[in-house]
Amino acid sequence: MCYNNTKIISQIKEGSLILCECGLYTFSYNNLLFEFSKRELQGFKNYLSKISISEWEKKCNCTENCRKIPIPTNQGNLLLLFNKSEFENMKTLFFPKENKKNIFLKFNQISEEFSKN
Ligand SMILES: [Zn+2]
Repeated sequence: MCYNNTKIISQIKEGSLILCECGLYTFSYNNLLFEFSKRELQGFKNYLSKISISEWEKKCNCTENCRKIPIPTNQGNLLLLFNKSEFENMKTLFFPKENKKNIFLKFNQISEEFSKN
């Protein structure tokens, strides 16, 4: 990341998702910072969209603020843990609300194409 001509894709109080001129994305959230290539970003978004909060909530009976939603990193022995509200908040960086309609439309189109085959 050279931080030239950066473009803010989304921003919340706790962090941001920024695209740099060199093609790398920087995701920051509180004390976390990740750099992604376009492909890695897509993979991360896929991962986020597949996580079922309710599944993770069932695995643990403690308080709502307990951090139980894991996000793996490239370093196998390092996991990031989020609680429900942190996770949902962090997710809005990758799926900004104004794009929600478009995302759903895309998913519908994809499933339609699959069912045709
Ligand atoms: Zn850069």
